[in-house]
Order: sequence, then structure tokens, then C-alpha cells
Amino acid sequence: MMSELLPFEEALAAMENIQSTPPNEEQIELNKALGRITCNDIIATSFVPPDDNSAMDGYAFRFCDWSPEKVFPISQRVPAGQAPAPLEEGTCARIFTGANIPKGADTVIMQEEAQPQEAGILFPHAKANSNIRPQGQDIKKGQVIIHKGTKITPMHIGLLSSLGQTKVSVFCPLKVGILTTGDELIPAGNTLAEGQIFNSNGPMLSALITQAGYQVSQCLHAKDSPQATESAIQTLLECSDVILSSGGVSVGEEDHVKTVLEKLGKVHLWKIAIKPGKPLVHATLGNTPFLGLPGNPSSTLVTYHWFARRLLARCAGQENLFDISYPVDAGFNRSKTIKRDEFLRVSISSDGLAYAHPQQSSGALIAACESQGYLHIKAHTPIEYGCSYAFYPFSGF
Ligand code: AMP
Ligand code: MG
Repeated sequence: MMSELLPFEEALAAMENIQSTPPNEEQIELNKALGRITCNDIIATSFVPPDDNSAMDGYAFRFCDWSPEKVFPISQRVPAGQAPAPLEEGTCARIFTGANIPKGADTVIMQEEAQPQEAGILFPHAKANSNIRPQGQDIKKGQVIIHKGTKITPMHIGLLSSLGQTKVSVFCPLKVGILTTGDELIPAGNTLAEGQIFNSNGPMLSALITQAGYQVSQCLHAKDSPQATESAIQTLLECSDVILSSGGVSVGEEDHVKTVLEKLGKVHLWKIAIKPGKPLVHATLGNTPFLGLPGNPSSTLVTYHWFARRLLARCAGQENLFDISYPVDAGFNRSKTIKRDEFLRVSISSDGLAYAHPQQSSGALIAACESQGYLHIKAHTPIEYGCSYAFYPFSGF
């Protein structure tokens, strides 16, 4: 039933439709909230700014008192942070940026446009209501300022602070279990025997998960046997909301992940029409979503970026995960087409064109390190110099 490759867009849609129970909720200090996900709509409890204030260093007066010849005596001085007195009729207040506008004043003229005279200040030009930042210009009381399911950025922390908030309610961090597989793999820091390689996917997946703001519950390695694979998955199920694995999902005799998943739960999809990253498998074990990524490090990275990232975001309670992309013209030709959607690792040169890294092997990670993002070449599409394709910068992931 699953020998056909699932088209890329269908696999993406499947990932977005996954239903999962979001993690528990907690209230945390705002200064610990970067990257966390809001668990409800946040409603402004006050106005920002709280009162009308001056956008300039200058003078505040009542516009109906003004004419180009009128000399305004200065009746008060209002530095930022002080409460002004109501404005005396026919006078102006010396005022500074951020200071509250005295009651009665409705216009601020910047000091560069004021002409000091012996008896006061003359304003040759004035426009009613100018240079006043009205109460609520930034935020209105009662307004939803951050929607449920939003990943908190430094800008959100600034916004919440501007409302005087020091705490925020968020989902508890998603706990992600990592399983790497393969008899040939040993951890970095050891000496390689013949036939061995270092495990790079484990540390890379840990870093990707940490970068996304989640917790690695445990990172295990299983030898290529059904027993070792099953036992590691059982251990991860105890402590994880979601499990990601690498390797062992292809069709070889040493690939046991899919068979174990079929035994422990339900496999929803296997093998996707993408390059690199074809043998992706998605399953649910009880209530725990599982995504088996292919073992070649570039395939692991690409399938993490396109599939695991979506799955984890959904499970973590995040809504509206936007991909940042824009069209970029290719700086090269390739007439040969393939049946899979391809994610070339490319850089944008100073001529504005995208150039593919020369090493596109699914085993090679250097391309991703030396490139700026993915150029998405849809299945059956030739690459033509000067034609545009969707570019996804790595910084958007
Ligand atoms: P597999 O999907 O298990 O057949 O693995 C495909 C290729 O990726 C093989 O060359 C593996 O040695 C390599 N590979 C699998 N897992 C890892 C890993 N954790 N780190 C580095 N390379 C890996
Ligand atoms: Mg393997």
C-alpha cells in the first residue's frame, strides 16, 4: 500500500493535520519567556502610552490661542516623567519628548521651529494637533495584543513590558525524545575503528530542538536490531511528548524502525517524493507522535526543517507557523528533471542569483553550512537560468 512516494504537498498537509493534546500550561517570568508559546490570547489591561505625550522637544499650547504674530509666555516647564499642571490660557509650556501634554494644550511645535523673543516664544508656523502621541497610539486597552499559540519573540517581551507585565502564561516546553540508530555509529570524542563513523545527527537534532525552544527529554542510540530499537523507543515513550529518530527507515535488512513502529502503533505515512529525504516515516504510538527521519545527515536536516519542525510546532501548541520564502532567479541551468520535489542548498550571490552548492549529496552536511537556504525545485521541473524558484532562507527556520 505504501510503495508509492507520497507527493511533497500531501505529506506537508498530513503533518499540519496532526491532532495532538497541547502540553500543560504554566505562568512564568517574562524574562524567561523567550521562545515559549502563549497558551491564551493576551489582552491589554491599559493604554500605551497611558496619556497623550509629546513626540518632540518643543512647546505645547492651545491651537486656538495661536497666530503667526502671537508671542506666548512660558508658564511651565514639563520634563518627561513629571505631571504637568493644566495649561494657563494664552501661554505655552516648555515640553520635552515623552512628557505628558498639559491639560488644555493640543499642539506641540518643535523647538527648531520656535523663535524665542523677550516676552516669550513666537511660532511662525503651526498645525493643530501636531507632534502629540495620543493615549493608546501603540496599544488600546482591551485589544488582543498577542494571540494564543504565538512563539514569544524579543518584540513581544518589549510589548508586554510596555504594559507593565512581568509574567506570561505559556505552554510547558515540549519534551522531545531523540533516537539515533546504526551499528556503525559511535559518539564524538571516541576513536573510530574501521567501518565506524561519528554520530552527527544526534547532536544536530538536539541543537535544532533546543534552538526551537523545546526540551530534549532523552537522546538514545540503538544498534541495528529490532529488540534494541524497540527497547529504546519504549524508554523514550516514558519521558517524551514526541519522538524523532534518525536512520533505519529505508528498505535495507538493517532498517528496523518502521517494523518496530508497525508493532507498537500505527504508521501513517512512509516515503515521500522529496530529495533529499525520501524514506521519512510518520507514526503514532499510543498518543505519542513519532517521526522517523532518514539517516543521511542532509536528509535528516531537510526532513527536520520541512516535517519535524511542523510536527513539533503543532504538538507544542504553536499556531500559524509561517514559512519565509521569496522568489529568486537561478544562476544556472539543469535540464534533467526528477520525480521528486528537491531542496537544493544554495547561496544568493552579489548578482542576486541563486547558485547551488557543488556538493549536494545527501550524506554531506557541508553544503548546508556553506549555503544560505533552500531553493525549492518542484518535481518534474527543469532549472533554467534567470527563471525564479522559491528560496527559503535557513534563518527563517
Ligand atoms: P540509514 O538510513 O540507517 O540507512 O542511514 C543512511 C546513512 O546515514 C548511512 O550512511 C548511515 O551511516 C548514515 N547515518 C545514519 N545515522 C547517522 C547519524 N546519527 N549520524 C551520522 N550519520 C548517520
Ligand atoms: Mg542505519
